[in-house]
Amino acid sequence: MRLMPGLFTLVHARIIAGVAALTVVAMCTMMDRTLQAQAAPAVAATAWPNGARMALSLSFDDGRESQVTQGLPVFARHGAKVTLYVVPSAVERGLEGWRRAAAAGHEIGNHSLTHSCSGNFPFSREKALEEHSVARMRQELTAANARLAALLGVTPRTFAYPCGQTFVGRGRATQSYVPVVAELFLAGRGWMDEAANDPSYVDLAQTTGVEMDGKDFEQIRPLLEEGRKVGAWLVLAGHEIGASGRQTTRVAMLDQLLAYASQPANGIWLATVAEAAELVAKRQQP
Ligand SMILES: [Zn+2]
Repeated sequence: MRLMPGLFTLVHARIIAGVAALTVVAMCTMMDRTLQAQAAPAVAATAWPNGARMALSLSFDDGRESQVTQGLPVFARHGAKVTLYVVPSAVERGLEGWRRAAAAGHEIGNHSLTHSCSGNFPFSREKALEEHSVARMRQELTAANARLAALLGVTPRTFAYPCGQTFVGRGRATQSYVPVVAELFLAGRGWMDEAANDPSYVDLAQTTGVEMDGKDFEQIRPLLEEGRKVGAWLVLAGHEIGASGRQTTRVAMLDQLLAYASQPANGIWLATVAEAAELVAKRQQP
């Protein structure tokens, strides 16, 4: 606990009033949180490389072909490195392109072997997480890593939860497979999350991922402005890359976003998920 001198008066008043000690402890903790929240921007503002005030990672899931055909040229013209969460079967379908992606310095991440999600998705009914075990997920993740290493010569260091779902089983037998991800990877990224990551607090095994599909730059810009205020690490997540369409990150948005991020005055450190996670992990060490 840390208290500002001025707050002691209030605490003492409570004690004198005969309030139980536990209440005081709870109150101090609340005050502590408030003080830390107020102090956070100043501390976090110095936490990123090159004097940046926030970190930004772009990530794309499933190994969709358009990430290679449409995405690689966009990233190349801005000198940007992104994170591509692939399933091995997608890489096998377009091996030459994915080898180019890896050779260009983009991070190749693990998105599991079979992309198992809840059986509520018809595509996943035959491989539903509700019927899986933690042991099966471990096998899925290690097998995907081995396959990707054989195909692309790199072993993934980070993971993206298919459909953002972190459970196996159902009802009272439900378990989380987050601990397996924590054991095997530097970071595990979610999907459709609402908030950026606080680098001083985030559990890297549940790094948040905010959707960028179907958005224009003007919808992304407020996330950057907010992130800069608090020194956040914003991880954006998308699927297809193209002019428009379902589950598609727009090329026009990417061009604007990457141009904006490359201006030093905008205070953004663009990094792959693994690069940013590595720094966060180092700084979280006691
Ligand atoms: Zn996916």
